[in-house]
Amino acid sequence: MRRFEIALPNSVDDCLQILAGRGAEAKLVAGGTDLLPQLKNGLLKPAWVVDLSGVSRLRSLEVDDGKGLRIGAAVTARELELHPGVRAGYLALAESGALVGSVQIRNLATVGGNVCNAAPSADMIPPLLALDAEAVIAGPKGQRRVPLTSFFLNVRRTVLGPDELLLEIVVPAPGPRSGGNYLRHTPRRELDIAVVGVASQLTLSNGVCAKARIALAAVAPVPLRATAAEQALEGQPLTPPLIERAAQLAVEAAQPISDQRGSLEFRRHLVRVLTRRTLTTALERARA
Ligand SMILES: Cc1cc2nc3c(=O)[nH]c(=O)nc-3n(C[C@H](O)[C@H](O)[C@H](O)COP(=O)(O)OP(=O)(O)OC[C@H]3O[C@@H](n4cnc5c(N)ncnc54)[C@H](O)[C@@H]3O)c2cc1C
Repeated sequence: MRRFEIALPNSVDDCLQILAGRGAEAKLVAGGTDLLPQLKNGLLKPAWVVDLSGVSRLRSLEVDDGKGLRIGAAVTARELELHPGVRAGYLALAESGALVGSVQIRNLATVGGNVCNAAPSADMIPPLLALDAEAVIAGPKGQRRVPLTSFFLNVRRTVLGPDELLLEIVVPAPGPRSGGNYLRHTPRRELDIAVVGVASQLTLSNGVCAKARIALAAVAPVPLRATAAEQALEGQPLTPPLIERAAQLAVEAAQPISDQRGSLEFRRHLVRVLTRRTLTTALERARA
């Protein structure tokens, strides 16, 4: 690993000041579970590493029944997994946190790190997309909000500038009669990354689907929404044939590749199966 200087800001303003001077040659670190392997294998060679562990503002997790969730960028996967308010209203998100690595990894891995690392297979991103989350970004000109659907540009590339940091993720309350689910397929049970991940989120009203969201991981350079599948469900009573139709439309939205983890055909098959299963579970939860 190349030697680097470490900066330890204790506020967001301190951090922005450091980034203003050294942003192009600096990397932020939260839990370090993505960054450290990248430093060790020489993929990244920053002159400065800016440690966010002293910035308490990034660690807050607020649940407001009416308004929704505010998840500080440095909230961990383990906190999402266990938080009663997240489990009560945003179960797909808690489920995705529970799937990240091992308990040791989840105690370090942050939601901000998962989102900003922007791996196509990242587990916490699909439920956030399905929940219409927005990223709150701090930079030299103040704060800006970006819908998560526009946050990802390519594999490991986001809209964040070198002088910016992710402050928090804001998730609107899904409202009554809503349910969600996240599932992924991995060849091994633990410590493996998704070959495909699917999050579904449904809201019901008067016996029909008022709102549907389906988000896919590991089937394109960036995590994506299956919007045609969502539109096929909205305004309709949710029957098994309609769910099957949505699963087919989700397959058509995916742009998978073949690699050592799975073939293109296998990934398409997984999108169909996981979309059907997550929609079915989301529907049961919305009705409960
Ligand atoms: C053994 C192992 C198993 C894993 N299993 C999984 C898994 O099952 N599912 C999964 O999705 N991931 C998995 N990961 C990857 C990793 O744990 C997650 O992506 C984790 O959420 C990253 O968070 P972090 O805090 O460790 O990020 P870090 O490594 O600290 O940072 C990751 C990237 O985000 C940037 N960053 C961090 N915080 C901010 C911020 N606030 N603003 C701007 N940029 C920021 C950093 O500069 C860096 O580029 C695994 C990793 C390991 C080592």
